[in-house]
Amino acid sequence: MDDSTESHSTIWSRLSRLFCRDSNEEKLEQAILDASAEGEVEPEEKSMLLGILRFNDLLVHDTMTPRTDMDCIPVESSLADVARLIVSSGHSRIPVYSETRDNIVGIVHAKDILPCFVDEKRGNLSIAEIMREPFFVPDTKSTRTLLQEFRTRKQHIAIALDEYGGTSGLITIEDVIEEIVGDIEDEHDAPKEEDIRALGDNVYELTGRANLEDLTELGLELENDEVDTIGGYLCMLSGNVPAKNQTFTLHGWLLTVLDSDAKLIHRLRLEPARAEENASSEANRMASTETDLS
Ligand code: ADP
Repeated sequence: MDDSTESHSTIWSRLSRLFCRDSNEEKLEQAILDASAEGEVEPEEKSMLLGILRFNDLLVHDTMTPRTDMDCIPVESSLADVARLIVSSGHSRIPVYSETRDNIVGIVHAKDILPCFVDEKRGNLSIAEIMREPFFVPDTKSTRTLLQEFRTRKQHIAIALDEYGGTSGLITIEDVIEEIVGDIEDEHDAPKEEDIRALGDNVYELTGRANLEDLTELGLELENDEVDTIGGYLCMLSGNVPAKNQTFTLHGWLLTVLDSDAKLIHRLRLEPARAEENASSEANRMASTETDLS
């Protein structure tokens, strides 16, 4: 270990020890919030410091790109197909699968494919010959541990597996770092759709992926062990995917599905429920459930 690595790991373990003590964690969070309220800490510094605190509890599952959003390619594709996918997706690492996405067999890097187009001898190589071995991690791994593993293994991407060995998603070093420093958009990243968009007057437009934890910050407390997103929560509650215009009244808030299909809720509107909606929700709750499933 060289000096710089040693001093980094010492600082890291000191910070970890400091941030790991539960009793300290709450005090630290309060101290950061107080310092920010008093103007001693800039807003960006505040969110970075809170990000470090939250980092302790984060799992790969919380921050990965889910399997349905992964741009990947079957192993029998041509190198030209991979190059086209790299260009259209803007991603420089493409997972390669055999038969289904549950069986990721390699990762193709843009840097490994470029020489194949300029060097005649490599022009006939197959994907299997240039792909690298995937780094698999359980989706329940702590992101803090993964960050250390990324560093020691000199890896930038991992394939997250669910408890049955199926593909859960992928996670890169950028996903992990973003949890502390906020969004990093490189020159190829498409602008990200905001999961929560304020429309004014306490009215919000949400994507189905809006995180329940973030809704708590707006005053809607729905945190749940089974699901992370508002779309998942409402599907769980209804037992199916709610249709467009279906409404839910939850804890004084009215949620209206603006757009959904057979598999997913895409967009919702969140606004304070009117008194009569709250009353009808209360009647429903007493009858069977807490939601207005009208
Ligand atoms: P890149 O610059 O190649 O997109 P980054 O590590 O900067 O890679 O990742 C940026 C974001 O893109 C991250 O959220 C990451 O999870 C996601 N990402 C990276 N590769 C893929 C891929 N093949 N398919 C879908 N999302 C990906």
